[in-house]
Amino acid sequence: MQFKRLGLSFLIISLISSVLSFTTYDNTPLNFAKWFSIYSLIQIFIHYIIVVCIEIFVGLKLKNLELMQIHELSKVTSVVTCPCYLKHKQTIPLILNTNNSYTCERCSKNINTVITIDTVMKTTDVNSKQIFDTLNDKSNEINDGNMQ
Ligand SMILES: [Zn+2]
Repeated sequence: MQFKRLGLSFLIISLISSVLSFTTYDNTPLNFAKWFSIYSLIQIFIHYIIVVCIEIFVGLKLKNLELMQIHELSKVTSVVTCPCYLKHKQTIPLILNTNNSYTCERCSKNINTVITIDTVMKTTDVNSKQIFDTLNDKSNEINDGNMQ
């Protein structure tokens, strides 16, 4: 695939150089081959500049994306209590996979946070209609029993 692209690029460069050389070499001291080389070099140079510009543009885009990601992650916050005797509560940004440390606003000590994950049993939705129907049936059974 890469070789096909390279071949196509050289073909296009050669075609453009040939056309330009044919139109210019006639009344100049340089011959066709020299004009062909000059036009080819100019095209390769322009191509190189375009590739460099694209790389810079893509690099800037990536940096921007990283900054946006950091900004989004910083939106996750948690209220924490300082382990000092003041037990000061404050809201801090939390980022997973990093060492989340902060400075207490009251005692100015550097505090590390520990993120723990708890598990809870999932509950199923209560079907209230079925419960009422069952209760109704039971009360009807009891009432019928009393009638007899
Ligand atoms: Zn504190």
